[in-house]
Amino acid sequence: MSHSITIRCDICGATCTSDATDTVSAARAAMVPLSWARTLRDGQVIDVCSACRVREKVPGTLDREAGCSCEGGELFDVLGHDRFGHRLANTLLRAGVDSVERLSSLSAQQLRDLEGIGAASARRALSCLRSEPGG
Ligand SMILES: [Zn+2]
Ligand SMILES: [Zn+2]
Repeated sequence: MSHSITIRCDICGATCTSDATDTVSAARAAMVPLSWARTLRDGQVIDVCSACRVREKVPGTLDREAGCSCEGGELFDVLGHDRFGHRLANTLLRAGVDSVERLSSLSAQQLRDLEGIGAASARRALSCLRSEPGG
């Protein structure tokens, strides 16, 4: 059964609804051709509509290292296109964490308990998501 998923722009509140998808990440992927984007702001991953992208000059994707030819995905963009970021994102995917949404819903303890994620990786993942001073 398919249902529609609505993505809301975190800057202006505009919404965009996708009917043909079952998951939020698939809905987000469907937004990309409409010039919607996911971006990091103040340590939070937010959805940005096409109008706000123009207004706020939000880049389409976070900077990726030149020459990186990985398949990418939002986890990779958030965790970073370097060796550590790639390994961490791949490990998370294998552990069933396939979206930034999912990642942000996990506590530090839950992250550490995931298969293949150590304390250092958990810390890096969390610091990529939010930049809490002293956190
Ligand atoms: Zn907007
Ligand atoms: Zn990459």
